[in-house]
Amino acid sequence: MSGVNHNAFLASCMRPMLRRRLSDALNFRNRYLSTIRSLPKATTTNLRSMTPPIAILGAGPSGLLLGRLLNRANIDFTIFERDSSAMSAWGRDGSGTLDLHEGSGLLALEEAGLLDVFKKKARYDVPLTIANMDGKILVKLDENQDTDRPEIDRRDLRSMLLDSVPKDRIQWGVKVEQVQQELDGTMAVHFAEGGSETGFRLVVGADGAWSKARNLLTPAIPEYSGRYYLTSAISPANPFYSIAECLVGTGNYMSMGGGRVVAAMRLGDGSYYTFAGLSLPEAWRHENAALIEDAARLREVLVKEHFADWATANTDLIANSDGDFYVWPLYGLSVGSLPQRSMPGVTLVGDAAHLTPPSGEGVNVALFDSLQLAQQIVKHGAHSLDRAIEEYERSMWPRARETIEDAAVKNEMFFAEDAPAGLLHAFTDGFQNGGEK
Ligand SMILES: Cc1cc2nc3c(=O)[nH]c(=O)nc-3n(C[C@H](O)[C@H](O)[C@H](O)COP(=O)(O)OP(=O)(O)OC[C@H]3O[C@@H](n4cnc5c(N)ncnc54)[C@H](O)[C@@H]3O)c2cc1C
Repeated sequence: MSGVNHNAFLASCMRPMLRRRLSDALNFRNRYLSTIRSLPKATTTNLRSMTPPIAILGAGPSGLLLGRLLNRANIDFTIFERDSSAMSAWGRDGSGTLDLHEGSGLLALEEAGLLDVFKKKARYDVPLTIANMDGKILVKLDENQDTDRPEIDRRDLRSMLLDSVPKDRIQWGVKVEQVQQELDGTMAVHFAEGGSETGFRLVVGADGAWSKARNLLTPAIPEYSGRYYLTSAISPANPFYSIAECLVGTGNYMSMGGGRVVAAMRLGDGSYYTFAGLSLPEAWRHENAALIEDAARLREVLVKEHFADWATANTDLIANSDGDFYVWPLYGLSVGSLPQRSMPGVTLVGDAAHLTPPSGEGVNVALFDSLQLAQQIVKHGAHSLDRAIEEYERSMWPRARETIEDAAVKNEMFFAEDAPAGLLHAFTDGFQNGGEK
């Protein structure tokens, strides 16, 4: 090649090659774009990026913790959440404060590397006062002692979990309508707004009470318990606040009797989350929409009509609350409705698997489910998800049964005519059996 400009020679050879490559690339791009434009939205999504193997429905405690654990194991996933943003959910309508237990909720946080963050937000000074409907205080527990069941506001737990999952793994404002198995065995997730995403090898229903994945495993739907919780708040600026503080302190106050409950819990910002539990027809919230909007009138109706035979020491917590009301009709799954079989490609965690009326265990079991599922997925690898589900469900369904049975017993204690007699017996038995509550 002497006498020839080496670079010019290379350039003259390369140019046609480059031109061909460029033209091939452009043709490919045009074919790709026209294919994409002619496809429905869902398939478009899958061409844009590789479908992760796992779809998690719901960014509640169970869905987020599962995401956190999978992320730490470098297993890809996507979370679909119906709330439009992190800010829009779990505000004051959440469940107030949650206590996390050793061996379940706390263990799950520890395994997820979140225990230190949790401890910064958690409260360990949480006395429990139990009174009857006459306002007579029967028990004060753990006063001025560190509890082994630390409490955290529900919204703090969620924001802690949210911060622990990469932001791009959560799709907000996406309400799942249906989950289906495709002919090739992969799973498709269909959205209420239209469109779907396909090609998942596992869909995990972490979408709570009305899970859209549950019907693949059981035809059962949650049954109404006959009871509602109506929740409100007492803020530090409330003139009644100092009286609430005397009664509830830094922990929880529960009064019960005659088939009803009045309770208050201290939140992280110092305010009190109050709730009244009572028997109402299932359709009550629809038939009383205007009353629910009118908090002052609802307070009056509750105190004068539903809790008229209660001591004012208790009902003052309702009468003097200053927030709007949030109404929770309480639903649960029955033991008989739990699935008898496993199905490849889908499983459930948390309330989706074993919804119960509140019993103090729900979030703990939800977090523990996710820990157990993540451990099985990591153990078997993302290529063997069906094996992982099988093993996970082998211990999860018996746990679900236990959770449902335990909640039924506790709720009967809370709402018994002679409450809190049963609860006090349970405490006494627990203490005789080694201090377990
Ligand atoms: C009034 C009340 C008080 C409670 N108090 C306690 C307590 O003191 N202690 C305790 O342990 N437990 C308590 N619980 C129960 C506890 O809150 C639940 O057990 C726990 O939150 C379950 O977590 P999860 O992640 O399984 O479901 P959830 O917390 O219900 O989260 C489900 C997530 O899925 C999303 N979602 C739902 N449907 C769809 C859909 N179709 N598409 C996409 N996303 C969807 C929801 O927006 C939500 O973010 C209480 C519950 C209630 C109602």
